[in-house]
Amino acid sequence: MKTYDAVIVGGGIIGGSIALELAQRGLWVAVLDCQELMQEASWAAAGMLSPAPDCPAAIPLVPLASASLAVYAEFVDTVEETSGLETGYRTGGAIEAICHGDAERELSTLVALHRGLGLVCEPLPLDEALKMEPALGRAVRAAAFLTDECWIEPRALAAAVLQAARSAGVELRSGREVVSLVVNGDKCTGVKTSAGETVHAAHVVLAAGCWSSQILGASRYAPTLPVRGQMAALRHSGKPIRHVLRSESGYLVPRNEHAPQTIVVGSTIENAGFEKRVTSGGVERILSAANELVPELEKAEIIETWCGLRPGTPDQLPILGPADVEGLLFATGHYRNGILLAPITAKLIGEWISDRRVSLDWQMFSPLRFADVRADRSATASSL
Ligand SMILES: Cc1cc2nc3c(=O)[nH]c(=O)nc-3n(C[C@H](O)[C@H](O)[C@H](O)COP(=O)(O)OP(=O)(O)OC[C@H]3O[C@@H](n4cnc5c(N)ncnc54)[C@H](O)[C@@H]3O)c2cc1C
Repeated sequence: MKTYDAVIVGGGIIGGSIALELAQRGLWVAVLDCQELMQEASWAAAGMLSPAPDCPAAIPLVPLASASLAVYAEFVDTVEETSGLETGYRTGGAIEAICHGDAERELSTLVALHRGLGLVCEPLPLDEALKMEPALGRAVRAAAFLTDECWIEPRALAAAVLQAARSAGVELRSGREVVSLVVNGDKCTGVKTSAGETVHAAHVVLAAGCWSSQILGASRYAPTLPVRGQMAALRHSGKPIRHVLRSESGYLVPRNEHAPQTIVVGSTIENAGFEKRVTSGGVERILSAANELVPELEKAEIIETWCGLRPGTPDQLPILGPADVEGLLFATGHYRNGILLAPITAKLIGEWISDRRVSLDWQMFSPLRFADVRADRSATASSL
């Protein structure tokens, strides 16, 4: 019987990055995906690498996000060297613009909050902001510069991670829908697919994005839910945009440096179930936020629209670490930050599988936090 060291369920950026990490640690790894790999949230993302919290619920995530940003350049080097492909990784910072409300007060709150969390955030006088980004519009009433932020091209990163994983010996198996975990007594020994195949492994890592909760035996650990985000890409021939630009209502991410530029703009945050549909209302909201920040974009050509399903969780924090069943780990629920969090997630899962200890406290992200899974576990095991 063929038994992998690790089977990863889900070939998005999280599953792909973990597979690469484990293969580089010498493990025999397979990734199972129900379709072609990297076609879901990881393909749809904007690619901002921002540890800044976008709401109070995201504040506990800042240390993990900052740790991931700190190792991002090294992660990119490894992926690019192993794959021979580029990822579109860029440094240079983000400008956070305030267009509404009491702008000066909002700015001092933002700067104080970010600094309190250990993030570099400088108030940016408007004349300075305009020197850095001449295309900014008059609606911008105050601004801050987040010097350390970076960005990346998620579709290029996804292709490079897959190629790197393949080169490192990972078996990438598309068209394999996992329907349940295989649990024998106190141990998870593999997964079952919809074709009736059992894939055996010493470790199973569940990384199926917002679909993780649909796999039999997983929902009590990973009650993930889809949160739709709509996006658009514009072809912009005006003053080049050199940084990530964000406001209260939306964001812009430049994909290249010189005119004509491709600018990606987003995004909505919608509870629309698993329905992937771009709507006129959604596109209108993201375009009006973009046009408010950079009015010249009204003349830009819309070259693509799309949407993706973020893996949300009830507390908006990721689900990382071992379950209370030997051999079962979770790496899902990365919500709005999975591109940023991929390197640290892969590192921590790799450390746990190799050494049974991790270099960063991940207790608050444990899959055991959602339910009284300890009490329920024997029931789960016997029902599988
Ligand atoms: C519009 C939008 C903008 C975003 N912008 C950013 C950003 O700027 N920065 C950032 O850091 N993050 C961003 N995100 C979030 C980020 O994209 C996600 O957090 C990340 O991609 C999640 O990766 P994943 O691998 O967990 O999930 P996914 O990429 O969704 O991959 C899950 C995989 O699991 C597979 N799968 C599902 N069910 C099964 C099954 N039963 N059996 C086998 N395989 C299965 C799927 O086919 C899929 O390939 C954005 C997301 C969206 C939608």
